[in-house]
Amino acid sequence: MTKFACMIEEENQDRVTLFNTASSLPGRQGISFIGPFGSRVSFASQQARAFNTVWAWSEERAHKPNARVAVIGGGIAGLTTSAALVAKRHTVTLFEANTELVKCQKNARHRYVHPTVNFWPSLTLKPTTSQPYLDWYEATSDVAAKSIEREWRRFFLPRMQQLRLNRTVTDIKRTAAGTMKVVFTEPGHTSPKSELYDHVFVATGFGAEIKVWDTDRSYWDPDDLDGLVESGHRSFTIAGTGDGGLIDTLRILQEEFEGGHICFRLIKDMEASGLRPAVTAIEVEAKKKGSTAEAAKYYARAYSDLVERSLSNDARALLRSRVTGMTVTLVGTLPFPYAVNSAPVHKIMIAAALADGAVRYTQGKVTRDPITDEPMIKTAKSLVPVAAGNKVVMRIGPGGGLNWLLKKGEIASLKTAQLYLGDILRPAKLPDDFFESCNGVPLRDPLSQEFIEFRKDLAEDYLWAKFRATCDASGLNNKKGFRVYYAPDSVDHRQLPTDLFGIACFIVPEPVAEWV
Ligand SMILES: Cc1cc2nc3c(=O)[nH]c(=O)nc-3n(C[C@H](O)[C@H](O)[C@H](O)COP(=O)(O)OP(=O)(O)OC[C@H]3O[C@@H](n4cnc5c(N)ncnc54)[C@H](O)[C@@H]3O)c2cc1C
Repeated sequence: MTKFACMIEEENQDRVTLFNTASSLPGRQGISFIGPFGSRVSFASQQARAFNTVWAWSEERAHKPNARVAVIGGGIAGLTTSAALVAKRHTVTLFEANTELVKCQKNARHRYVHPTVNFWPSLTLKPTTSQPYLDWYEATSDVAAKSIEREWRRFFLPRMQQLRLNRTVTDIKRTAAGTMKVVFTEPGHTSPKSELYDHVFVATGFGAEIKVWDTDRSYWDPDDLDGLVESGHRSFTIAGTGDGGLIDTLRILQEEFEGGHICFRLIKDMEASGLRPAVTAIEVEAKKKGSTAEAAKYYARAYSDLVERSLSNDARALLRSRVTGMTVTLVGTLPFPYAVNSAPVHKIMIAAALADGAVRYTQGKVTRDPITDEPMIKTAKSLVPVAAGNKVVMRIGPGGGLNWLLKKGEIASLKTAQLYLGDILRPAKLPDDFFESCNGVPLRDPLSQEFIEFRKDLAEDYLWAKFRATCDASGLNNKKGFRVYYAPDSVDHRQLPTDLFGIACFIVPEPVAEWV
């Protein structure tokens, strides 16, 4: 074996241990957990985790196929895990509590999802994923989730043992014989049913968001925020300084928020101004602080300096908030509204809004008055009612995604292990052909004509939706890839991507005049 091959083997061995450690719990043999913990959990990071975990689990069992496997949860992670398992020729049953797969995200037209925006500057901004299966492109959540489900239903569902919708798994027990007993509700039956499996993958996510009022809506539920702003509502109180709270604050404040496109424009401008290393350094330094409060203080200084001294005039103008008559109060438990796990680009935009005086930050909690039911802001020194007429938006995060199965201490251990793994999308170091072709989905190979043709429809959908451009799979001058065509005035061709799904894009030099 060459020295290089030895190094890869050693590194992969470390990764097997790493991924298996982060997906398992002592005393819970036979179960792998696909998240949900870690910094900046996203569609793409959960998918990366699903592929990594299936690979590491397969390595450990010496790649024996035909295991009877249950996947619990039909969100993005569950679909990706089951696709990966089916491709490795296991017998897979998927359980989903809802009557629909990926239900919340499929109905969220008001949310934009992007493969890498939350991970910039650690990762380069890329509009598409490059995964073995179930690729998607930056789009509103409904478009991305539906496209993932479409590919899953077409190519992977036919190879599955069962899809069990409307079944809530209530327990998983290990039998004396070492098999896993999955206990679940059966519609129309009062007593639960159970089935035996060799292994179980739990992909049940974070759980529902914490509700303070019955009327609180999930981050993914369609809301009336844009409509309220348009109709002239001017007073808002947002609770929570995770990405959910920051995004909704920015939606209100930034006239050009455009579902989050402003973030990409800002990142591109910061890249052009050479600010990527500075933002990287700030994020690295913040993580060294002894506490989340210390980190928040550090961010406050560092990002307000960056906004005031380093952003280009164009970027600063872009971030000029819509201040006229607007009162936006952001409430969170940290001394400043900057959590280590929030996306750097959102923190920078909030720093600009604070500098403009467009948002007021209060360290505290939004609570419910037990007698009047009215919203109150509780700080270390006071308890005051939220001003009358304020629209209150609660973005205080989810809880309880694993309470149905694990004890508190176990959840804490899993969280620690998964934070150690980290959620940064790890570059694929798996053997190139590990996730082979499956039921019409070719092996991922950006230089194979078969794979390029397979991904062409998704590439065309993206190019048309974003740029009013299109493509074919003919490459250029014997180079494999997409050839991209654009109409005059439809797009600034310099904005067209240089690759999609890891496949090279060759942009024809002249717009296609007759095609409009
Ligand atoms: C407030 C908030 C905002 C977010 N914003 C973004 C964002 O903008 N972009 C982004 O990429 N990510 C975002 N995320 C992260 C998001 O959770 C993930 O991207 C994605 O939804 C994770 O998919 P998942 O499959 O792991 O979990 P989920 O999407 O939560 O899916 C879990 C599935 O399991 C099912 N289930 C649960 N318990 C059981 C059970 N006992 N039996 C059977 N089925 C069960 C559920 O019904 C659900 O369908 C956000 C998360 C939160 C909480």
